[in-house]
Amino acid sequence: MPVGLHPVGCICRPCLVAEVRRLNELINDPHTEDFLAAVRTKAAEQRQRHTAAQEWQPGRKRRTVKAWIYVIGQLAGQARASAGEERLGYIVQIAATALNWHRLATTQGDKPTTQD
Ligand SMILES: [Zn+2]
Repeated sequence: MPVGLHPVGCICRPCLVAEVRRLNELINDPHTEDFLAAVRTKAAEQRQRHTAAQEWQPGRKRRTVKAWIYVIGQLAGQARASAGEERLGYIVQIAATALNWHRLATTQGDKPTTQD
């Protein structure tokens, strides 16, 4: 019986192989890979810029949650006001900022400060 005719949720080998194939195509989508590569590069640029300003050093005063939200909001506003490649660039910057926020939240803790 062709896999397409099996009941939903069937766990026979051909159905599981087809499901793995389908999920791999979702995960390994070329567009997603291009986006993530751009985000990795932009996130590294952001860290380089802020490391130069010593903002990224351990023990330094960290950016507050409000400040992260403000930056992402500003970038979202710029994305809204732009189009085409420029907008795509802002979208990448938003994701890169989120990546760096996540990095600091996981490496330095994410306890609210009095300024949050
Ligand atoms: Zn099946």
